[in-house]
Amino acid sequence: MPYPVGHLVFFMFCVLLAGMLAMAAMSFKVRMRLSDARHLKLYMGILVLAGCTGSLFPDVPALWNFILHGNLRHVTVGPVPTHSLFFGIVFFCIALMIGYLIYGKRTKAVSVGLFAGAGFISHLMLDDLAEGSIYYLYPFYGEPFSVFYSFLV
Ligand SMILES: [Zn+2]
Repeated sequence: MPYPVGHLVFFMFCVLLAGMLAMAAMSFKVRMRLSDARHLKLYMGILVLAGCTGSLFPDVPALWNFILHGNLRHVTVGPVPTHSLFFGIVFFCIALMIGYLIYGKRTKAVSVGLFAGAGFISHLMLDDLAEGSIYYLYPFYGEPFSVFYSFLV
């Protein structure tokens, strides 16, 4: 299990940087007023927050297990694995609803959800590289496996 700072740095340099550069390039194409630039900064801040939360969210059970049980098992909450695509879809939907509550626009809500989902996927990728056993297909396939070590090495 990489440390939380490792997950944040991996997300920042591998996912967020590309997304922010693309959004900045789009904003330079369109002439913006000053009030639009302020809204854009807030919007980018919310996207960064959503992505960083997504990159740390699968390890929340580690904190839960450390406080309640004194161990650092971080892959499951009870019998449910948090390092699965199913849990990522649930988190994507939560971020989507929060984005819709904030903006009331479907496109901005989807972008908040996508950044959160990208953060979640970056967490799974880094854990896969570090440990090699992730319950990717949890409700349909109950055994952990590694995409990186099974298909790429
Ligand atoms: Zn993890």
